[in-house]
Amino acid sequence: MSTPVRTRFAPSPTGFLHIGGARTALFSWAYARRHGGQFILRIEDTDVARSTPEAVQAILDGMNWLELTHDEGPFYQMQRMDRYKEVIGQMLAAGTAYYCYTQPEELEAIREAQRARGEKPRYDGRWRPEAGKTLPAIPAGVQPVVRFKNPVDGVVAWDDLVKGRIEIANAELDDLVIARADGTPTYNFCVVVDDWDMGITQVIRGDDHVNNTPRQINILAALGATLPQYAHLSMILGDDGTKLSKRHGAVSVMQYHEEGYLKEAVINYLARLGWSHGDDEIFSREQLVEWFDLDHITPSAAQFNTEKLKWLNAHYIKQTEPAVLAADVVTRLAARGVDLAAGPDLAAVVALYRERVSTLVELADSVEPYYLHAQPGAELTAQHLTETALSALGVLAGKLATAAWDKAALSAIIKETCTELGLKMPQLAIPLRVKLLGVAQTPSIDAVLEVLGREAVLARLK
Ligand code: GLU
Repeated sequence: MSTPVRTRFAPSPTGFLHIGGARTALFSWAYARRHGGQFILRIEDTDVARSTPEAVQAILDGMNWLELTHDEGPFYQMQRMDRYKEVIGQMLAAGTAYYCYTQPEELEAIREAQRARGEKPRYDGRWRPEAGKTLPAIPAGVQPVVRFKNPVDGVVAWDDLVKGRIEIANAELDDLVIARADGTPTYNFCVVVDDWDMGITQVIRGDDHVNNTPRQINILAALGATLPQYAHLSMILGDDGTKLSKRHGAVSVMQYHEEGYLKEAVINYLARLGWSHGDDEIFSREQLVEWFDLDHITPSAAQFNTEKLKWLNAHYIKQTEPAVLAADVVTRLAARGVDLAAGPDLAAVVALYRERVSTLVELADSVEPYYLHAQPGAELTAQHLTETALSALGVLAGKLATAAWDKAALSAIIKETCTELGLKMPQLAIPLRVKLLGVAQTPSIDAVLEVLGREAVLARLK
């Protein structure tokens, strides 16, 4: 039997959950789900100066919205300090780590000299214990750091599931500080202990961590741990081909929520940022789980494409039941202070628009005038509410007062009015839209009238 899959998402809570982080979370989640494994959430909050509870909440909110449910955690690294210290103690005892009393000024002097000789600046190993070597005398009053005793020879290598084989000569790596002078463990060390303790089988993360991997592998090996597999995801570029950043607008996933994107669209979109299943562009979460693998992740950078996300969103909006869309729109309209009791059934209005919009904000914008009668702007008024148009609307209002209120009857009345007054359809329908809803374009006018209802229509035509 093969080892059960255990993946993790390990964000540092220094900001919101951004698109890149959400994609990493999605891939880790989907891989675990695909293999019936466990998905673990770990909050890497040891950078106390930059970590905030608000950022933790923002990450949880983002994961929650996207329904990237974790099976274990969230584990907080700050709550695991005793464990890291315990392992450091064990490594000191086993001789895979050692105390180093080199002072910062001394280190700087070493580096300075190395640079002067044209060498790469690195710790020179002066406190590294070796057989037959005499270590310097321990200076008084100096708190030592703890360094990992990195192998000096050979290479560290791994078969990255995205990037292929990667090899680094150990000679390139100096002895990493794993505990600072105040005893606190350092970043790479905490990650190692966590991945080991949590039994992670696949580490799926951004390729900004590729440089950490050889160090982490060496420490894991020194601990006698089974190595996980690594999959380093290439970065995401913005629409313009530069690294995705705040400059590209919404990079926080929750901002996409605010801007009216459905989670189904965002999940589908994120999945295609670097992963593919044949030519499939549209697939459900269930299909993603069924198909997801690490073999079809491209090692090249993925490019964000807002138009494509919008196109997917429009697709998912069309597919969603009006009542479900209405439940979202209610919140958006309430936030604008729109009173829904003042108008028709929201789901009926939503049904008229769901095939015409690409975001839920556009949907809310479209349905709002059914509840809040907005007077048309000066330009629309001047263009469409001419003397002729207003008198035609008066004639129409007279007929509507007693009309049967269904689409077929309403359509017949509009046609009849046009014929009587010698008007073309748009000459009546556009002023009618402008007068009723403050806009020149709407779904078919008979459907609009039907949904709006006689009372509101007559009141608005007055
Ligand atoms: N905390 C790291 C980050 O947010 C991720 C570390 C990892 O996945 O190993 O970039």
